[in-house]
Amino acid sequence: MEQSIESYIKNLVRETLGHTLGEMQVQSDRRIYVIANWKMNKSLAETAEFFQEFKSSNDVSVVVCPPTQLLYPTQLFIKQSGKPIGLGGQNVHWADKGAYTGETSISMLKDVGCEYVIIGHSERRQYAHEDDVLVNKKVKQAIKAGLIPIICIGETLEEKNSMRTEQVLFTQLFGALKEIDSGDFIIAYEPVWAIGTGQSATADLAHQTHSYIRSVLKQIVGEKAENISILYGGSANESNAAEYSSMSDIDGVLVGGASLKAQSFDGIIKVFAKGEQNS
Ligand code: PEP
Repeated sequence: MEQSIESYIKNLVRETLGHTLGEMQVQSDRRIYVIANWKMNKSLAETAEFFQEFKSSNDVSVVVCPPTQLLYPTQLFIKQSGKPIGLGGQNVHWADKGAYTGETSISMLKDVGCEYVIIGHSERRQYAHEDDVLVNKKVKQAIKAGLIPIICIGETLEEKNSMRTEQVLFTQLFGALKEIDSGDFIIAYEPVWAIGTGQSATADLAHQTHSYIRSVLKQIVGEKAENISILYGGSANESNAAEYSSMSDIDGVLVGGASLKAQSFDGIIKVFAKGEQNS
């Protein structure tokens, strides 16, 4: 996979001078995120228990995306904690209001304190048949309303095995970002084969893929691409977080299973927070 000249140089610097010094020399303005995707898990009592134990950190941007019925109580738990934890929805409808039974609008998410929303997660693409056209409609409306979309892209195992990863990511990015020239979004690279399987992508593979994603983003939004955070997602946990955090083009992680327990989510946050302080 082709790397951008910049990420090639960053890697060369890191390999030659060591991670910390290397990062110090080539720091970008990108925010580092550790984001929890709780999917369809947790009761109110379990959420209360999570926030009793959760320590979080001020050194990276932490966001929790609970299921819809827990958004408002989660906002209250966050307020109570006094910590700068962001709140995000796991999905949103493109229309602002109307006869869309079972859906949640952008203004409803904002009303309960959301600043972020996950859009185009592979589970929604798979089970709710969401395609790039729908993803684009949602992303456009979210950006317009000042909600930061966390746009999920990623190839299936079959696509990976038939060497179509770049083609799939290219199509998903151009589809999701049609007619968008703002850089106010986050990309989560989530290879479908790595989600919930325990088979995480190696940090090298994720890093190379992120460099490719950034090169495509440059074609779409120009120089703004340099400041867009690209997160890795897919069986990220306390044990592999350090490898991801050492990569200059991996700007954090979107975490499913390992975000359900406060202790393991804190473990991942700690790793990225340490990386930030060192850089
Ligand atoms: C996800 O679904 O966004 C995800 C990354 O899940 P997991 O960490 O469980 O693979």
